[in-house]
Amino acid sequence: MVRLYRENRSKFLRVKCPDCENEQVVFEKASTTVACVVCGRVLAEPRGGSAEIRVEILAALE
Ligand SMILES: [Zn+2]
Repeated sequence: MVRLYRENRSKFLRVKCPDCENEQVVFEKASTTVACVVCGRVLAEPRGGSAEIRVEILAALE
């Protein structure tokens, strides 16, 4: 059974760096720029209280 979470609570997102294919977990409401730990590409930037994710999101984690 699939449950949909529409609450506004914070999550962690598993994202994939398009440059080096490193998978990394990013806080959805990151307040600082998040860079890939491997190659340094910007993965997410803070934007108005939540983070703008600039790469592919693989999954949302609780
Ligand atoms: Zn990378």
